[in-house]
Amino acid sequence: MSSVAEKLYTIRYKVDEQSHLIIKDQETCLKCQTKECQDFCPAEVYHWVEKEKMTSVAFENCIECGTCRIGCPAYNIEWVYPKGGHGITYKFG
Ligand code: SF4
Ligand code: SF4
Repeated sequence: MSSVAEKLYTIRYKVDEQSHLIIKDQETCLKCQTKECQDFCPAEVYHWVEKEKMTSVAFENCIECGTCRIGCPAYNIEWVYPKGGHGITYKFG
């Protein structure tokens, strides 16, 4: 069986300069006990930055699985499809 890293290799990206993933309210992240966005995202897009007290978003790594639309317990992530022509395509299958 392929690992997640191997599967991620099969994806091509055309990255937009503008993020399609927006943290609605960083105060909500500050209060969030679980910070589970760091766990449920298979592409490790979200990281809690303790020094800056904010969730950073590496949107360019997103594989558009859609999990964060329902995974954040506070529904604090706004997710929109990348603009036409941007985002990911799969090399195989
Ligand atoms: S799970 Fe949601 S509220 Fe918690 S840190 Fe992540 S984005 Fe913020
Ligand atoms: S859509 Fe999927 S890959 Fe992209 S940020 Fe959300 S959970 Fe991560």
